Amino acid sequence: MRVKRAEKYGFCSGVRVADIKVKRFAAKRGEGAILGQVVHNERVVEEMENLGVRTVRDLAEVEEPVVIFSAHGVPPSFHKRARTLGLDILDTTCKFVYDIHKEAKRALEEGAHLVFIGDPGHREVVGYTNDLDPSTYHILQNVEQARDVDWSSYASIRILYQTTLNADQFDDVVRIIEKANPKTRRADTICYATKQNQVAARELAQDTEVDVVIVIGGKQSANTRHLHEICGNYKPSYLVQGADDIDPAWLEGARCVGLTAGASTPDYVVQEVEDRISSL
Ligand code: SF4
Repeated sequence: MRVKRAEKYGFCSGVRVADIKVKRFAAKRGEGAILGQVVHNERVVEEMENLGVRTVRDLAEVEEPVVIFSAHGVPPSFHKRARTLGLDILDTTCKFVYDIHKEAKRALEEGAHLVFIGDPGHREVVGYTNDLDPSTYHILQNVEQARDVDWSSYASIRILYQTTLNADQFDDVVRIIEKANPKTRRADTICYATKQNQVAARELAQDTEVDVVIVIGGKQSANTRHLHEICGNYKPSYLVQGADDIDPAWLEGARCVGLTAGASTPDYVVQEVEDRISSL
């Protein structure tokens, strides 16, 4: 059985930088806790815990002198709150996430109503919206929610996407708003790494040589889920967190297995999965 990797997959620059920053901090015997998973990958979280950096869900749980903000970012008020609690901050927020914070601020100053396309429970989206007046924004995930609002009542609208979405999937949602309010502008905030991984995953799944696709990534990783959805449109596709999750029955009769991975999947996990498939 042959394995063919996507042209582009796995760790993006933001996650790579976050990973390096936390490992450097741990190597210097820094005592810190990460607010939320540093990246959405259970193996990376386990690795950090083995280095002595634990994960917490709330700032109030931090007992260490340093709080680490993840690549997804936090609401701006969390910086102030951390300092009030006497904590030092190691900020690993991705540059592209900060770009969206800035774009949202600019749009509000221009008087626009904000529409975030994304998951309201995702830390990245919470980071953008937590400190805002609820009347200044909406978070949308589907067309039903988009149909429920009178968009024509706003002077102008700025649409911002969670960085790891598959934009095509939300085109219907955005078109409802654009139709109702001609002063709607889309900000292209889907991150380049997400786009590249998605394009390469689509090409891989469309490849006539490939019979089955395995997508590797964390359970909570939004971008991994979207890769899985894209590949599933063309070939039988399975989402795994690591080599142990592979069921040999999936690959029966397959001559070539396509392999791709979400932006929070470390290279060694991709290699472990490839070795497992090759050994079958
Ligand atoms: S997927 Fe993009 S936005 Fe998210 S951490 Fe990676 S580079 Fe940054």
